[in-house]
Amino acid sequence: TERTLVLVKPDGVARGLVGEVVSRIERKGLKLAALELRTVPQALAEEHYAEHKERAFFGDLLEFITSGPLVALAVEGPRAIAAFRQLAGGTDPVEKAIPGTIRGDFALETQYNLVHGSDSPESAERELKLWFPDL
Ligand code: ATP
Repeated sequence: TERTLVLVKPDGVARGLVGEVVSRIERKGLKLAALELRTVPQALAEEHYAEHKERAFFGDLLEFITSGPLVALAVEGPRAIAAFRQLAGGTDPVEKAIPGTIRGDFALETQYNLVHGSDSPESAERELKLWFPDL
C-alpha cells in the first residue's frame, strides 16, 4: 500500500467540489488517512511548489494557492499515487485531461485545475511530511 498527498485547491473549495472529489477518491477504493481544511501560509506554498520557482507562473501559482481555504488529504491504497493521478486527469484540463476525470469534467484553465496529487513516491514522501508532519 502507498500514500499520496491530494489537495483540493482553493478553486475546488470555492466551487463546492470537495464532496465530488472525495466521493471519487472513495468510489475508486482509496482510503482517507487524513483530511483537513486550511488556509495555506506563503512559506508552505513556496515549499510545496519549490520545483516551479523559476517558472513564469510561479507568482500567480502562489497567489492562487494562498487565496482561500483548500482541503489537504492523505490518501492511501495500492498504487495510490498513480490511481489518484488517473482520477485527476492531465494538468491542462482541456488539452490533456479527458472527460471522466476530475479536471476533464470540471475545469477549463490550467491554473484552475482543481486538484493536486503527488507525482512520484519521492514527492509523496516529501509533500506528506510538509502537510501532515504528524501522520
Ligand atoms: P499538480 O502538481 O498541482 O498536481 P501537475 O503535476 O499536473 O499539477 P505541474 O506541472 O506540477 O502540474 O504544475 C503545478 C501546478 O501549477 C498546476 O497544477 C497548475 O495549477 C499550475 N500550472 C502549471 N502550468 C501552468 C501554466 N502554464 N500556467 C498557469 N499555471 C500553471
